[in-house]
Parts: sequence; structure tokens; C-alpha cells
Amino acid sequence: MVDAGGTHEPYIFVVRRGGQRLDALQISEHEQSEELIDQLRRQGIEVFHTHLYKGFGMAAEKEEMEKTRDVVAIAHRYGMKADTYVQWGSMMYETFFAEESRAEHWIQRDIAGLPILLTYGYQQSFRYIPCFSNPEYLEYLKKVVRYAIVEVKTDFIHLDNFSLNAEPDSCHCSWCVSGFREFLRTKYSSRQLRDRFGFENISFVNPPQWNRDNPPEKMEIIYDPAFQEWVDFRCQLMADALRQISEYAKSLNPTVAVEINPGGLNGDNHTWMAGVDHTRLLKFTEAFWSEEDNIPAYYPDGRLVSRIRSYKLARAYRNVLMISNVANDPLALGEALAFNQTLSCVGTDPLLPETIKYIQFYRKNRDMYLDSEDIAPVAVFRSYASLTYHQASTQLSAILVEQALIQSRIPFVLVFDEHLRNLADYKVLILPNSECLSDEQISFIRRYVDDGGGLVVTEQAGLYDDWRRVRVQPGLSGLVDNQIRGSEYQQSVIGEKSGPGTGIRKQIGRGKVAYIPSLTFDGALPSSEEYFSISNRFWRRPKNWKDIIEAVHWAAEDPIPFIVDGPEFLGANYTYQARNGRYFIHLVNYDAVNTPSLVDLEVRVAMPKHKEASRVSLYSPDSKEARTLNFINDEPGTKFTIPGMKNYALVAVDM
Ligand SMILES: [Zn+2]
Repeated sequence: MVDAGGTHEPYIFVVRRGGQRLDALQISEHEQSEELIDQLRRQGIEVFHTHLYKGFGMAAEKEEMEKTRDVVAIAHRYGMKADTYVQWGSMMYETFFAEESRAEHWIQRDIAGLPILLTYGYQQSFRYIPCFSNPEYLEYLKKVVRYAIVEVKTDFIHLDNFSLNAEPDSCHCSWCVSGFREFLRTKYSSRQLRDRFGFENISFVNPPQWNRDNPPEKMEIIYDPAFQEWVDFRCQLMADALRQISEYAKSLNPTVAVEINPGGLNGDNHTWMAGVDHTRLLKFTEAFWSEEDNIPAYYPDGRLVSRIRSYKLARAYRNVLMISNVANDPLALGEALAFNQTLSCVGTDPLLPETIKYIQFYRKNRDMYLDSEDIAPVAVFRSYASLTYHQASTQLSAILVEQALIQSRIPFVLVFDEHLRNLADYKVLILPNSECLSDEQISFIRRYVDDGGGLVVTEQAGLYDDWRRVRVQPGLSGLVDNQIRGSEYQQSVIGEKSGPGTGIRKQIGRGKVAYIPSLTFDGALPSSEEYFSISNRFWRRPKNWKDIIEAVHWAAEDPIPFIVDGPEFLGANYTYQARNGRYFIHLVNYDAVNTPSLVDLEVRVAMPKHKEASRVSLYSPDSKEARTLNFINDEPGTKFTIPGMKNYALVAVDM
């Protein structure tokens, strides 16, 4: 998809927000003009992005919504598709309350009963947040969706502001409080409630409450069962609301695409902070948006910043990722092609030369991106319970392991809890400090090793169960020896722990297990952030990254199928296209600013049995023509050298 606007802000919002240019109306009209649509089409845009509904209420926005209906008809006449903004999580109460008298009961309220606001500095307090537990609000939202599909005939619905506020700003409305208790009654039997809380009658259990000495952003470990359940409840209510809206949209037009804006994997504890569990949401979407500020770059201090995690999350759920700020940035555009297999949203008018160059490259070579599957023998487990309940430690471990793999160009995917059921596709499973594993998950992991899988375990993986209760016997005992014991409840969390100093490798039947007792941050650990976010200040390889890479190679048994020599700032993704029998190697130079060209990169590709390469071709947006490369077929693969690349290169290996 190649998508661009236009603006997604309607004029009513531009005015209410304030600070606009005096010619804002003319600009707004231009952003939806036939002239602009035709210009974008000529520049290669296929999906026109525009505003439809901002949250002022359908009455207040009627005129502009009707205008959008006409504009979408123009886009369709030009053979384009339309992507329309629909507000999910914000209500401009001044007009909305005037239209809908019951709406004062539809908004999120804090523990004191005050409306919960968006968190955009001090500027937008006219925006309340509706409550997604409230069926009346969802019915209203369906009216908007119906208008979008039936009247406007949109092809793509962008649901914006798709997240909840972090504590202490969670909703305490009567729907949420009673909904939370009902959720617990449905989830657990009386006996299980007794296990969970120590008592059965949960009719007076409330959402979390805070005081000045104990602010939520400083809480390092979530032990409290009610807090843990509250996270689950918030994630589930967002997923349930999305399912309703998405199914309703598709009942009106099965081909309409649904996209949400919950952000990506940026190092936040997004389940705890935002009620966003992507693994529940992305089953109801075709795309999602991330406004993460991780502009791809390599820094002198060794940090490699990328959106690779978010792209891999998208690929795990067959979604397309839409990223803000890729426009005119060749590295960001190349990263999208490498890891997203499409450009998705390339920005807004006016499109600048680098953007247009990448659009032309993608459209000319689109066949190499369509129907391509990521090839990744290595899986990194992102455990819901581990990351949610002890973000400070486990998110850092996950990120350090991922950085080691990224900067060594090891092909890997991210797997989530549900994927542990079927690990047959992976040669290596990595548990990066996955502290909290359920009994069932442990049985899946043991079966995987029994079946000949390679397991790489770090730090405290498996020392707790999925309620973060301390296991008396480490969950992975037998597979991993010499792990230290987990720690029980602590009033205040005492520092980091690490296990014995040496790694251990064991062959167990046909399987292999490598244990890495600690991951050492390379340099002084940055100071903690609010809610213990592991932002890109932390994104570098650990000091002992070689231990991880060597363990992965050892555990994989067969060689890793792609080896690309190069510096630590060269990123890679590998895909396979069954219909043409082709491998693709996508390379991104994250240090293009300081190292504008890379030369003589040696590549080795392990070929499937009885296959050999018949042609190797190099493509790049920086050169007009593809270049055929010399190669040598030898057992068990193909060797060749990439003579040079700038920001992004694509190599096709035909069999
Ligand atoms: Zn509520």
C-alpha cells in the first residue's frame, strides 16, 4: 500500500485547537481538493488519506463529513482508494454534549469522578476520553462507522487514539467498576478466586488507587493480584470493543480495512500503561499505526535505533505497520521496505524527492514484496506476564537480546504467549529473562526441547508462575541448572540480581539448551524512566552479546541460513516467495549519515536440499537498473559479494 494525504485534521478541529494560520480555511480546502488528489495520484499514491470524524459529534461535523463523502468519490473516480480518519478515543464534549444529552455518562472518570483527558500537554483539555466499557458509546461509534462505510464508501478506517491513559488516570466509572468484578467472576471459579485473592467474594474489589508517596510510575514490580487482573481487564475491554466495531464494519463491507493507532513496541509497558495488548488487538485489524519517535539511526555510543520490533510485531499478526515520520527519510523508507514489505503511509503533501524515488522503486519492483514470507529460524519470546509485571528488568533483557540479533543480522521473529503452542517452525527459541511462565507454557517448552528444538535461556526465566508467584522448583529445572531462586514479595524492590557467572550448554536428548545467567548492559545503565520505560536510550548490544550469538548458532544445529558480513550498523531481513521460488535479502545501512556507502559485503545463503542459485540480482532505489551478481554454488549454499550499497539494498536469489 502507498498511502498519503491530505490532512487528517478537519477545519473545526484546527479552529478549536487554536494557533492556526490566518489562511487555515484555504489550506483545509486545498487538502481535500481534486487538484491535490490528482497530483498525489500522479506521484504514485494509491490510497488517499483524509479526515472524516474527529470526535466533535456527527451533528457538529455534518458539513465536513458530507464534504469528505464527495472527496472520496473523487478519489475513487481517479482509481484510488480512500483512507479515512475516524476518532476512537476522544470526545470534544462542548459540541458532543450539546448533541447527545446522555454522553456525560459515556466518558471515562477518574477515582474522584472527574473526566479523564488526553495527555497532550496543557493544550487540549476540551477532549474527554469516552469509556469503552460503555455499550451506549460503542453504539454511537457504530453510527459513525456505518456512515463511513455506507455513505462515504471508505476503503480503510483509521481508528485514532487507540489507547488508555496510564495510572492513575484509569476509568472508575460504574461500567468499569462493575465490569471489572463481573470479569473476575467470569474468569475464575469460586475456588480459583480463593487461590487468586485469598477470598471468594470480590464484590468490593476496586480498580487500583494511589497516594502521593506511592505514585504508579514508580512501581517496579506488580505483585498485587487485583492490579494484575486490572491490567488484563483493561486490555480485554479494548479488544472486546475493537472486535465489535471491526466485525460491524466488515458486516457492512467485508473488504474494508480496519486500522488502529495503539503505538508499537517502543520499550513501554504498554499493557500496564495503555491497556494495549497487541496480541489481542491485531486479530481484528489489517494495519496499525505507531507514532513512535524511533527514527532509524546508528549513534556513536553504539545504539542502533530502529522500528524493527514494531515491524516484526506487525508481521507476526499479518498486519501492515503505518509509521509517522518516514517522509523523505531514505533510511526510514528503506527500513519499511525491508521489514514491512511495503511503504504504507509515506506522509502528506507536498511529497519530497526521496519519498517519490522510493515510491517509484517500490511500484516498479512490487512483485518482489508481495506474498513474501519472513524466514526466521530464531524466535524471541515476548512474555505477557513477565513484561507486564516486571517491565524494568524483563523489557530490558528482551531489548538487549533483540539488539544482539539485529546487529548481527540473525534472522528472527517475535513470538507471543499463544505461539508457544506450536514452535515446530523454529530452530531456536530464546527466553529473554521470561520470568513468569505458566505450567502449561513450561510443558510446551519442554516438549519443544524433547522434539529436538534449541533453547536459549537467560537470567531468571521460569522462576515465577504467570501470577508472578515464586516457584519452589525453578520452572525450567532439568533443562537449566544452577539458576538462582526467585524473590518473594518485597516492599521495595532491591536492585538487580544475576546468576552464576558462566553460561551452561546441555544436550538433552535431541534438543539443546544454552543458559546465559546474565546480560550485561554495555556502559552505565541510563537512569530509570517513568513507568520504567526502556526507551531507545537503552537500545544497544549487551556487553556479552557474543555469548548470545554463539549460543544461537550452537543451538540452531543447522547453520543459520543467511550470513551477511558487515558492520554492526547493517540491518537485514530475509524473505521467501514460494510462487517464484526466490529468496530476498533486504539490507539497511543504519549509519548512512556517517558511512554513506558500504562496499564488498560477502553473503552466504544456505539453499534448500537439491536446489541451487540460478541468478543473483541487486536492486536499489539509488540505481536505475538492477545489477546481476556473480555467485558460486557450493555445498550447502551460494556465495556472492555485494559490491556496494547506500541506504537500502535488495538482493534477489533465484533458484
Ligand atoms: Zn469506564
